[in-house]
Amino acid sequence: MAGKLDIYRGMRDFSRTPEPAGAVGGAEGERRFVVQRHRASRLHYDVRFEIDGVLVSWAVPKGPTLDPKARRLAMHVEDHPVEYLHFEGVIPSGEYGGGDVIVWDTGTWEPVHTDDPGAAVRDGELHAEMHGHKLRGRLVLVRRDDRGGAGSDEWMLLHKHDDHAVGGWDPEEHPRSVLSGRTNEEVVEDPHRIWRSEAPAAEASVSLLPESLPAEAIDELESLGSGGTWEVFGRRLKVTNLDKVLFPADDRGRSVTKRELLAYTARVAPVALPYLAGRPLNMHRYPNGVGGKGFWHKQRPEHAPGWLRCWENPDADEGETTAYVVPDEPAALVWVANFGALEWHPWTSRAESPHEPTYALIDLDPGERTTWDDLLALARLHRTALDHLGVTARPKVTGRRGIQIWVPVTPGYTFEDTRAWVEKVSRTVGKVVPELISWKWEVKQRKGLARLDYTQNAINKTLVAPYSARPAAGAPVSVPIAWSELDDPGLRTDRWTIRTVLDRLVERGDPFRALLGAAQELPEIS
Ligand code: MN
Repeated sequence: MAGKLDIYRGMRDFSRTPEPAGAVGGAEGERRFVVQRHRASRLHYDVRFEIDGVLVSWAVPKGPTLDPKARRLAMHVEDHPVEYLHFEGVIPSGEYGGGDVIVWDTGTWEPVHTDDPGAAVRDGELHAEMHGHKLRGRLVLVRRDDRGGAGSDEWMLLHKHDDHAVGGWDPEEHPRSVLSGRTNEEVVEDPHRIWRSEAPAAEASVSLLPESLPAEAIDELESLGSGGTWEVFGRRLKVTNLDKVLFPADDRGRSVTKRELLAYTARVAPVALPYLAGRPLNMHRYPNGVGGKGFWHKQRPEHAPGWLRCWENPDADEGETTAYVVPDEPAALVWVANFGALEWHPWTSRAESPHEPTYALIDLDPGERTTWDDLLALARLHRTALDHLGVTARPKVTGRRGIQIWVPVTPGYTFEDTRAWVEKVSRTVGKVVPELISWKWEVKQRKGLARLDYTQNAINKTLVAPYSARPAAGAPVSVPIAWSELDDPGLRTDRWTIRTVLDRLVERGDPFRALLGAAQELPEIS
């Protein structure tokens, strides 16, 4: 566990490379480079040189090498912002370059035969003396004007015969990050950062680590009276009614105040945000606590701060919600919690394409006669079915009584598609245990049996977000779990609360991270 935190801290130091506008390099005159191993639709290595304030970049399918006999194809691609220099993590699928990225090598370099490397690139030949961890000696990039004419994107990358050359050297035999020591596979299982391609470069690299909130921010919240202005994640939020009890005590401890909910929200926001950002949010509000009546609130209120992203629904009919909150940053989630929305329901689709689901959702909804063992049996049968189909999916406990399974899908599906697919999966499972299942629509007609609810796959129908609190005593939380935890005798749907889930995140990471780079086509089910 200590080792894991060391990695966290190490990553955060590396990520803290503020780039003053126009400044280049660490020390005076030093130019940096990075080679990222990037598993996108195809594996490739991105070789990037810092030139004139940007990262001039080539995608090299077979990767750079020290082997002087090798000639590598290198596709000249668009410049990247310097903020990308030490990015390591996951680019969510559906975004540009979706996949996982490690910093395979980094260091400094010197242009050779020129003091204007930008001009050398325009002229089609760059010689670079490399001072990296893996790459050393002289690399040469030459444009292949014989292929596609002058200005072709096709270049050749080679290593000179020099003291650093190593015959037969294969980059795939050196697969670990020089920053974190991790492989792409390890990063995708537990990414510490994601890159949001649509955001401005300075904001695109988003930490997923629960402890990224400075302790002083929590101290400041503690020191406020019943309300005041809280500065958190760079925003100034007006927070109110901080001592109001929102959740009554359960048998595990004392009641939970709004102050505690806000502190939890701020701590968990970086972890929960990838499942909420870019999506319209349906807010389940309990301004007087979960003992009172809750209600759905979808309309973005007039008094919301200007920085809180708004999405106007072009399909809104008369009397329907016209403008939604889109929580694109951690402070937005804190605003939502202060608004009394203790339960967060993001849309399954993104604001940009509201009719295209990004997940197929399987909702195991127990009836009053369904036992815990019955529910586990249903979840395990789905695990077997999805494994058999070769589908990447993860379960989460709801914090109330149910278990859900989230299946990330590639763009292009409609809700009808995902609903039909989930229905097929669940009906196949249902045939194995017909005594546990009812397909009846009406609760009364279900006779207390469980329902496999595929109908949640519809626009503006939502399931509770990962790491959202639930409106019940003790402030239980909906928590993603590993498939193997279905076999843990201590598992319960309301096992974790806002007081315990952060420790679990530090120890176990977030099992849903594996879904972020894993959008997939749904296999045919016969
Ligand atoms: Mn790439």
